[in-house]
Amino acid sequence: MDYRKEFVVNPRKKLKLARIDPVQSGGHASNEAAQPEITKYVTRMAELQALLYANADQSLLVVLQALDAAGKDGVVRHLFSGMNPQGTSVFGFKQPSAAEAAHDFLWRAHQRTPGKGEVVVFNRSHYEDVLVVRVHGLVPESVWSKRYALINDFEKLLTENGTRILKFFLHISPEEQLERFKQRLDDPARNWKISESDYSERELWPQYVEAYEEALVKTSTAHAPWYVIPANHKWFRNLATSQIIAETMEEMKLKLPPTRVDLEDVRRKYHAAAAAQEKRNGKG
Ligand code: ATP
Ligand code: MG
Repeated sequence: MDYRKEFVVNPRKKLKLARIDPVQSGGHASNEAAQPEITKYVTRMAELQALLYANADQSLLVVLQALDAAGKDGVVRHLFSGMNPQGTSVFGFKQPSAAEAAHDFLWRAHQRTPGKGEVVVFNRSHYEDVLVVRVHGLVPESVWSKRYALINDFEKLLTENGTRILKFFLHISPEEQLERFKQRLDDPARNWKISESDYSERELWPQYVEAYEEALVKTSTAHAPWYVIPANHKWFRNLATSQIIAETMEEMKLKLPPTRVDLEDVRRKYHAAAAAQEKRNGKG
């Protein structure tokens, strides 16, 4: 199945998240059945990242957005595990610091965008400024409603500068969220992830859905598409996101960089060095 076609957000159509089933699994029966494909895509992502790093003429930005416990951290852990830490980074967007709040909303995001050759993951992002900020009325509508166009321009600027942008909304059901909150309560190893605000935010679910629906439609563009990923099944979430990332990276036409030296000349230098070394070894 081509998950890029399947899950991309069409900017010309009204988006109703309620019509997208978060439990679907693309015809795969189980985690075990999907694992070989996940491994294939994760491996390919790592190979392509090595080429991206070696070439250093393009970059990749992956944006992850979701309600609490939908699996943003899980995506980071599973999909980017194969990549070389050199050349990749993850940035989590929290409540803005005083310095960040004193600037325009894109300022902190712009500072974290990937340089040439880099892969960067935004765990939450500049989209919080049309999501949490809207739902909680942190700025008036006259301010947040202008931000969709500003975001599109910002992402266009990055694209023109050689950055490929992919944006994922991890879609879970309220029941699944509650189940994951329970696991966080029951498992001492996960207690640290509990936040009391998770429960008050959950009460605002319909408002978040409304904010997401508008944001996704208004900012899903040809150069920076949004994908709604059914995420109740963690393994399906991993499969769909890894396929979309790997196939997008294939499109970047990454090749081994050209050799910058005269190989014949270097080969002569090597043979001379090897002969000298042998001579020294012989003497010792
Ligand atoms: P988890 O899903 O595992 O709980 P998290 O991404 O929610 O991880 P937290 O540290 O719990 O991480 O929360 C970060 C909080 O910062 C979120 O509630 C998010 O909405 C908030 N936040 C991010 N950007 C902004 C912003 N621009 N304005 C206000 N709040 C923001
Ligand atoms: Mg949280």
